[in-house]
Amino acid sequence: MAENLKRTDLINAIEETRKSFDTDNPTVPFIEGDGIGIDIWPAAKKVFDAAVEKTYKNDRKINWIEVLAGQKAYDTTSEWLPDKTLETFNEYGVGIKGPLTTPVGEGIRSINVAIRQELDLYVCLRPIKYFKGIQTPTKNPQDVDITLFRENTEDVYAGKELENSSEDVEKLNNFLKQEFGWDIRIDSGIGIKPISQTASERLIRAALNYAVENDKKNVALVHKGNIMKFTEGAFRKWGYDLVKSEFSDVAVSWEDCGGDPGDKILVQDVIADAFLQQILIKPQMFDVIATTNLNGDYASDALAAQIGGIGISPGGNINYENGKAVFEATHGTAPKYAGQDKTNPGSLILSGVMMFRYMGWNSAADLIVNSMEKTILEGKVTYDLARGRSVKKILSSSEFANALISNMKTSKGRSSK
Ligand code: NAP
Repeated sequence: MAENLKRTDLINAIEETRKSFDTDNPTVPFIEGDGIGIDIWPAAKKVFDAAVEKTYKNDRKINWIEVLAGQKAYDTTSEWLPDKTLETFNEYGVGIKGPLTTPVGEGIRSINVAIRQELDLYVCLRPIKYFKGIQTPTKNPQDVDITLFRENTEDVYAGKELENSSEDVEKLNNFLKQEFGWDIRIDSGIGIKPISQTASERLIRAALNYAVENDKKNVALVHKGNIMKFTEGAFRKWGYDLVKSEFSDVAVSWEDCGGDPGDKILVQDVIADAFLQQILIKPQMFDVIATTNLNGDYASDALAAQIGGIGISPGGNINYENGKAVFEATHGTAPKYAGQDKTNPGSLILSGVMMFRYMGWNSAADLIVNSMEKTILEGKVTYDLARGRSVKKILSSSEFANALISNMKTSKGRSSK
């Protein structure tokens, strides 16, 4: 089994990463992205530069360098994900990306998944929090303040799939029949769902550590272990074991405390389908979620809808052990809107906020969040957030960025980091 960093080493590694960004002119690689990437990336970059300039005056500046992936990479280099892109992310440690197209059912493998797997960015971090003024499909969106840790490297996303009725499926079927007596329909496509102890523990460790660092009250392990016992069920078991072996001074499982954790973080587990209805009925019960890849994919979009949609849902892909991270919006390329300067750059901007916090540039991050709160409350929003709300004028992507910049108010002088 591969060696993971234990809790104390992980805390030290995170500290080292923060120190490495305590510099005034970091180089940050970016991928513009396919589809609406050409609209939302320029809008987001303008907001990032303005926030840094207003916060730190001339003392700090991001040196952006473009790296290629997706259609733009293919048109320029005939490769969807050139090695140079991965090498550059590796070299500079932290980067940001717009959305990339993935064809359904055929063609190239997901470039997004490839970036996460190649750089071993094992956590997909998705904070889900409501902004006042946004119309939502649920009644109490202000009760949603959940940080979701989704495992990013395995599960059915590992890409171990064979096409139905192919020779390979026949070969595998014969083997399974001979060795295990398993009889799988001959015209089935077959996918393998690996869930390892190594990947589960490092994901759950990161979630528990986040809960400790951010004074959160509870962590839920979300799984489907009642059905998939040796994958999802094992994820649950390894999580509880980890609480006992590394976090017993700060966290306790429901089973061990009878629901009364005292000052400690309460760790419980929830079956994925029940979780999806509980986040609608009582989202205030959940602070931090640790979950497997597919569950996390569904749950994060469902939660995003609860607070007003994927137009304002950020994300980050992070390896806390070596410090590498690539931040990206939750949504895709929305091709029908590409080039129209129409869609909401909010998710990408908030992904940049996550990146600034990761780098320890908290004042710039706060400035953007405060101006976004004010701008949305004033009704200055893009088409998606104008739905169900009366606004004077629907803003374009670039106008929304300009409105955010106008609403950035700093205290005098250089703010603290
Ligand atoms: P999508 O691109 O996320 O778009 C679905 C819908 O979400 C859009 O039609 C739009 O809704 C809304 N939307 C998305 N981004 C928005 C924004 N910035 N502002 C406002 N509304 C926004 O999902 P998809 O159509 O299923 O996927 C398209 C492509 O993106 C696929 O190739 C997929 O693989 C890829 N994808 C990439 C990533 C990534 O790069 N991380 C993630 C997901 C999907 P309305 O039509 O209601 O306005």
